[in-house]
Amino acid sequence: MDQVTVVTGGSRGIGAAVAVRLARAGHHIAIGYERNAEAAEATAVAVRAAGVRCVTVRADTSDADQVEALFDTAQRELGQLTGLVNNAGITGLLGRFTETSPEAVRRVVDVNVTGALLCARRAARAMSTQYGGAGGAIVNVSSASATTGSPGDYVHYAASKAAVDAMAVGLSKELAADGIRVNSVQPGMTVTDIHASMGDPQRPWRVADRIPMGRPGEPDEIAAAIVWLLSPDASYTTGAVLRVAGGL
Ligand code: NAP
Repeated sequence: MDQVTVVTGGSRGIGAAVAVRLARAGHHIAIGYERNAEAAEATAVAVRAAGVRCVTVRADTSDADQVEALFDTAQRELGQLTGLVNNAGITGLLGRFTETSPEAVRRVVDVNVTGALLCARRAARAMSTQYGGAGGAIVNVSSASATTGSPGDYVHYAASKAAVDAMAVGLSKELAADGIRVNSVQPGMTVTDIHASMGDPQRPWRVADRIPMGRPGEPDEIAAAIVWLLSPDASYTTGAVLRVAGGL
């Protein structure tokens, strides 16, 4: 049976590395993104070069209607859904929690928590054997901050990622009988554009001495774990929260 996987935030960074790796493993890919159509198309070219089909869909994951449209397009263009990588995420600007605006807190929770929940719900309804689906797997992209708490940087983001891990544990139990495995990956400091978005492009190297392995990770090193969790090699793995953080 064909593998069809939605990767939210699949246009750049960790999500793009996941999309390309999954394509090399034979998955047809729907790339979700928020704004940067050019980046999404560039990643789609790399995905198609692996010989699979790919669609790009502009969809803000915090918006239920846009999430519906993302999954509708994926299934219409690519076929029966078998996987979701719940990867889209934001941090907002670095700073102390007391200096973070309510609007910034709300946006991070809307995208990282509500968005991940909406996507998981929609994917579960598409994949559940109890709804006529073929089963499948969901991998949430959390963060090592879910357990470090990220004091002084983005406590609200850390809290949102702990929520994502809790969701994976609960859903793994609820959906096991529906043929759906649900796991979570906690990346550590990884070299992507997210650090520029939070106002500190050099951050992965600036804080490298906090990381036991002494260096930040590459997106492909995170993608390897995510792709394994989606693969048949992980057929008995569900409810796992896997840290991929260089020892952090
Ligand atoms: P990134 O390079 O900033 O890329 C973010 C991706 O998410 C882009 O494709 C972006 O789309 C998309 N996106 C952002 N907001 C969205 C929304 N509301 N709806 C749909 N798509 C949205 O990020 P990254 O570093 O690869 O991070 C990926 C995931 O890993 C995130 O969940 C992040 O929290 C987590 N993580 C990252 C690190 C790290 O050090 N990089 C560490 C731990 C965890 P556009 O291209 O259109 O903007």
